[in-house]
Amino acid sequence: MSSVVLQRLSLSLSLKHLGVGLGLGPLPHLLERVTCRWLPWPRPTVGASQVPSLFREPYILSGYRPVGQAWRCYVLSLFHKHNESVNVWTHLLAVPVLLFRWWAHVGSLGYTLDLASLPLGLFLLSALTYLFLSVSAHLLQSRSEQAHYFFFFMDYVGVAVYQYGCSLGHYFYTSEPAWRDSYVGRCFLQGTALLGWLSCAGCCFAKSRYRRPYPPRRKLCQLIPTTAAYFLGISPVAHRLVTVSWEREPWLVFHALQIASFLLSALFFACPIPERFYPGRFDLVGHGHQIFHLFLSLCTVCQLEALFHDYARRKEAVLGVFGEGQLWWACLSFPGLSLGCVLTALMSMRQIQKKLKQETEH
Ligand SMILES: [Zn+2]
Repeated sequence: MSSVVLQRLSLSLSLKHLGVGLGLGPLPHLLERVTCRWLPWPRPTVGASQVPSLFREPYILSGYRPVGQAWRCYVLSLFHKHNESVNVWTHLLAVPVLLFRWWAHVGSLGYTLDLASLPLGLFLLSALTYLFLSVSAHLLQSRSEQAHYFFFFMDYVGVAVYQYGCSLGHYFYTSEPAWRDSYVGRCFLQGTALLGWLSCAGCCFAKSRYRRPYPPRRKLCQLIPTTAAYFLGISPVAHRLVTVSWEREPWLVFHALQIASFLLSALFFACPIPERFYPGRFDLVGHGHQIFHLFLSLCTVCQLEALFHDYARRKEAVLGVFGEGQLWWACLSFPGLSLGCVLTALMSMRQIQKKLKQETEH
């Protein structure tokens, strides 16, 4: 810590004590605000009753960061204990793990940037996008109601982009000819792009439409399109797992692990376990959303392992099997879907801003 910061801190603390000593009630509060303005120090966490209802999570009673601080206080809260810390770190630490595994596979299995390898690159890009947007959402959403909505809308963009990135990898490197000849296989790319966008739109709609306490309809709006997108996206993997010998291709175990981790993550996303049974006990560490993040990170790492092996096995044949047309479609539909999702999120944000403005006027 620099000596300037230490000096400011000690000045602020002595002024604060002076205010208390003189019996000046509001002065400590004022000083706390001044301290936060001039020092990059997040204010201490507060209980659920001290933050607006939008920020309260069911069965989480403490560890909330107060709203209305400077942006840097939320950025620096990365190094403080609060009820979002583990949510942030579980996705932040997945980034170096993914990059390290990617780099290791490039060294051992080989990777050359061309049309045939592009879907694998898009998968990595989609995974890094969802991790970055999730970290941003959990780190910065507490600043204000507007920030909360904006960052979570962008989080939904990340989820949709990631789902589509996985689907591209599964289609080009994992799918078997028999599955590709099926009706599902023929509609797969268009279907996963549409469902990816619908999952983003459904989540944005549910977030902007319903207020706490949330009705079960809200979860349905989020879960129906995302679940449909997942089941379609995973269908080439499921087909391969039941039709190909695991002894011949031992890395298929990573595909099995990615499915198991995803299903567990979905369970913890949908149900607030274990905090439901012990409200307040898992506020900082161990609540359901943190476990959901952990399993999702594990799912992504297993996907990378499995997809890189699938890619290494098939890279010479990809262009011949799918043709340049389909590969270009994948390349162009990925940024197209991402843009569509960002626009949907921004339109939802406009709706919310109108709503928030109306609420402050009444
Ligand atoms: Zn999250």
